[in-house]
Amino acid sequence: MFIIQPEGEIVKGTKTLSKQCEHCGNVTDHFVWKQPYGFQVGTIFSRRKTLGMKKYYLVCPVCKQADRELTREQALNMKS
Ligand SMILES: [Zn+2]
Repeated sequence: MFIIQPEGEIVKGTKTLSKQCEHCGNVTDHFVWKQPYGFQVGTIFSRRKTLGMKKYYLVCPVCKQADRELTREQALNMKS
């Protein structure tokens, strides 16, 4: 079970995918969510460095749970 975290964001310009949610059972327009992961490194003097990558998920707008993980290519294919 995975609930989206506030440091992530909706991927702008992507289409939603209408499908049944595995968690709440509603048929909803799942959106593409971008979630950073990995290490946040640096000090207060160099906050901008972020090691790591981003993961993409299809997220249900009703229960805010990630339905499944997308590859970066799949996420970019959702762009209209
Ligand atoms: Zn749901």
